[in-house]
Amino acid sequence: MLDNWIFLELGGSSSQTIIYDQSKDSFSFHPGILNAEKCIALACPGLIKENMVYYATNLGWPDKADPRKELNAPSIQIVENDVVAASLGESVLRSENSNLMNLHFISLGTGVGSASVFNNQAYDLDLGHLHIGGKNYCEGCRSFGCLNSELESKRLPKYLSNKNITFIAEKLATAIGIKNINSDALLALGGGISRGYPEIAQRLDELIPNNVEVTVTPEQSKSAAFAGLYHLVSRRLMEF
Ligand SMILES: [Zn+2]
Repeated sequence: MLDNWIFLELGGSSSQTIIYDQSKDSFSFHPGILNAEKCIALACPGLIKENMVYYATNLGWPDKADPRKELNAPSIQIVENDVVAASLGESVLRSENSNLMNLHFISLGTGVGSASVFNNQAYDLDLGHLHIGGKNYCEGCRSFGCLNSELESKRLPKYLSNKNITFIAEKLATAIGIKNINSDALLALGGGISRGYPEIAQRLDELIPNNVEVTVTPEQSKSAAFAGLYHLVSRRLMEF
């Protein structure tokens, strides 16, 4: 039963609990981590392997962390990377049936995250630490000149000018050109910066062959990750 589950999205700056109401077929969004006697599906930063979380340093966790211990929540049963979950959620929100549309997803927030959905599976696209040239140091990959080193939020002014927006779109276009992503698929931009400045998507749309759009996730949601987690839980329930 989906009613037995809640969805958690953890981030460095804020966290959100999402509750699904099966009778109304709707989601509600709550700040922070709600403690409920339910199974938990978790989206968080870091590399995920067998429900363990690696290198989620934004969360203040050790390099190899068990989220059940870190959050004192033994009922965590599904763990997915936040950007991978958001890409899957983006596809779920845009798809009319259980056959998910293929798309690419880039998140511009504290850092640059990216993922793709292809043949109903979501995977990391690895654009953030792709080397594009430049002199900035990145603490994430511990080297110089990756996309993240140019576009992580601490490198950008608080309020973006038209010039800043063009700069961001051009850096994204450069990385996308190097990665040579499938140009038939839609590229959706998420994360706080993309949602605050939809002009970035418009500008990027002019620069690359892909159609580029801003995420369709509801305004109250931290990201589309909740819909991705919902999909993962639904899929698991169907297997039993
Ligand atoms: Zn990097």
